[in-house]
Amino acid sequence: MERLDCKSMSLEALRGALISRGIPAFRASQLRTWLDAGATSFEEMTNLPRSLQEEFRTFFWIPTVNIEKKLVSQRDNTVKYLYGLADGENVESVLMQYRHGWSQCLSTQAGCRMGCSFCATGMSGFVRNLLPSEMIGQIEAAQADTGVRVSSVVLMGMGEPLDNFDHVIRFLQMLSEPGGVQIGMRHVSLSTCGLVDQIYRLMEYNLQLTLSVSLHAPNDEIRSRMMPVNRRWPVAALLKACRDYAEKTGRRISFEYAMVSGVNDTDGCAQELGRRLRGMLCHVNLIPVNEVPGKEQRRSPVKRVRAFSAILERYGIPVTVRRTLGSDINASCGQLRRQAGETKD
Ligand code: SAH
Ligand code: SF4
Repeated sequence: MERLDCKSMSLEALRGALISRGIPAFRASQLRTWLDAGATSFEEMTNLPRSLQEEFRTFFWIPTVNIEKKLVSQRDNTVKYLYGLADGENVESVLMQYRHGWSQCLSTQAGCRMGCSFCATGMSGFVRNLLPSEMIGQIEAAQADTGVRVSSVVLMGMGEPLDNFDHVIRFLQMLSEPGGVQIGMRHVSLSTCGLVDQIYRLMEYNLQLTLSVSLHAPNDEIRSRMMPVNRRWPVAALLKACRDYAEKTGRRISFEYAMVSGVNDTDGCAQELGRRLRGMLCHVNLIPVNEVPGKEQRRSPVKRVRAFSAILERYGIPVTVRRTLGSDINASCGQLRRQAGETKD
């Protein structure tokens, strides 16, 4: 029998699991309290009888997230972590300081199966989905290490969150559960490459998070070359889902647009994008693409980014050019390259 990841379970679910095994329900809150305090083994739960600790071990396990490597930027306070999981897999995460507090970029999968041409994570293929507790564990590990409180999270690390839908939804619930990390939905961004069917599923939850959509191109011709997922869900279907999403939730969609020199950064691209997004409750983030070793892509020159941005503004589309944090520690490598700054350059 496969053991249950007890750390991902709500207090209610823990109670149910214990009662069905004839264990008194109050043990569930003791267990939950230890898990929230970061316990990594049942032995350390000193208010549980030894026999119960041993019983727990037969049907529960506790996933762990350990810091294997840590890089601290000398330019800003950005910290990049390489975490090790219980089965030896590794994922990355970045902690960034903004004016309003600390924000953490989290991984949702080890690897990714979407294979975007510009992305470092996509290169190594897919390994597995992360558990809800392994997403929470990334926050706990960073908080314990630095002593700061993480006040917002972005699901923009390794992996495609909507390809790990159920675990991500459970993780989102856990963010605000009593005893947990206490991060409100308005302080969460979820980034997707555009799995249209899953966007509709997410819509049903009517969450107050920010949906960030990695668009990166104004049409199918260019987007299919950059993102294989576009062959399954073309631009028109994706933008329709985005309009529906914004209408249903009342939340502005944030479009990510990584500018690759000579690929998607022409005036023509900007005009086409402007025409297609006009009138939508949205915002565009322009990001000069991060150059990945072994890939040919080059970032667009600053002047090009500015011209592109000016065109979008003429279409009445709010646009931000993001500043990169932690550039000296390669925080921006492939995935973990989250940019900051509401600053228009
Ligand atoms: N799988 C999700 C979330 C993780 S990727 C997604 O694709 O949205 C997080 C963001 O990093 C996405 O916007 C993605 O397109 C972008 N990204 C990936 N590689 C990049 C690179 N080399 N330069 C700039 N942005 C990149
Ligand atoms: Fe996966 Fe996102 Fe990278 Fe594409 S950009 S390969 S969806 S992690």
